Order: sequence, then structure tokens, then C-alpha cells
Amino acid sequence: MIAEGGSYEEQLQNYRLAYELLKRKLRTSYVSQLIKSISLPEIRAMYRAIHAGESPRSGLLPTIDAIPHVRESFLYLSLFASLYRNASQIDIKTEIDVPAILFAWDFLCETFPNHSRERRPYGKVRPANFSEAWVIAQALKIGLADLHYCESCHGESIVIYNSKFPPTCQICVLDDHRKK
Ligand SMILES: [Zn+2]
Repeated sequence: MIAEGGSYEEQLQNYRLAYELLKRKLRTSYVSQLIKSISLPEIRAMYRAIHAGESPRSGLLPTIDAIPHVRESFLYLSLFASLYRNASQIDIKTEIDVPAILFAWDFLCETFPNHSRERRPYGKVRPANFSEAWVIAQALKIGLADLHYCESCHGESIVIYNSKFPPTCQICVLDDHRKK
């Protein structure tokens, strides 16, 4: 969390960070939670300026348990979480690492250039937008999700507690289904 006040230089850095987050269409309430020194109306105005007058989305925020609709999504979710953890220099179980989220999200977008929900509303690739990526990082921090090493496939797989998928390696489950 970024405290209120601070020097002119700090405030410029806050604007720069807000720009990076809004450019990727992070929900304005998340930006506002993170950057306390810029007001929500100003954040919303920045969003409109960056996105040619388009209004920021409002309404329900994504929840971690609802992000994977299909089991295949775990392949991508695990990849994202693994990229995020590997890019981070801090303990992602106690803090959100914003630069690491940016890195992992940009990497995913480069790897799967047509996956975003705007282009493919029913796609399997998750996170489907930057706000979902943000929610995954939050869930890893507060323990609603975790990244497990799987003894049988030797990969890292994300576990999402309270989702409709049991907390086991979904990549192995997919593999079992394929063999049958
Ligand atoms: Zn496995």
C-alpha cells in the first residue's frame, strides 16, 4: 500500500504506476486501494483519458473461486501463478508484488496474443484480463489459492480453495482424462 503525502517525485511515481495499471484496464477500485494519494474520481478520469473516452467498468469484481470455469483453465492459471512467483523478489504469501504481476501478465499476453476476454469471451485461457490476474495475486497473498509442487507430474499447479475443483493437481486430472 502506498501512503498518502510524500514528495513530488513519489507522487509522480504513483501517477506512473497508476498509468501502467489503468493501461492494462485494472478495475479502478483496485487502483484506488493501492494508490491512496490519487482520488478515485481522478483515477476514473485517467482511465477515460487513456482509453479514448471509454468508461471504466463498474459492478461486481471478479472472485478467485469463479475464475476457472473449465479444468483446462488450470493449465494457464498455473502458468501465470508460476511466472508471478518466479518473477517476484518478495514473499507473495504476505505481499502483492505489483511489478511481478505486470511481468507475468505481459508475458501471458505475448504468449497467447488473442486470449483476452474482450476478444474471446468464453476462452479457456485464464486470467482473461488484468483484473483477474490481480485477483489471483491477492488470493495467493491471503491464502485463498496456493501454488503446489506436484509429485507425479513434477510441475507447479495452482490450487484454488472453495472453487468447484478439488485442491489437487488439475493438470494430472486432465492427463488422466486424456488417457481414458
Ligand atoms: Zn500433477
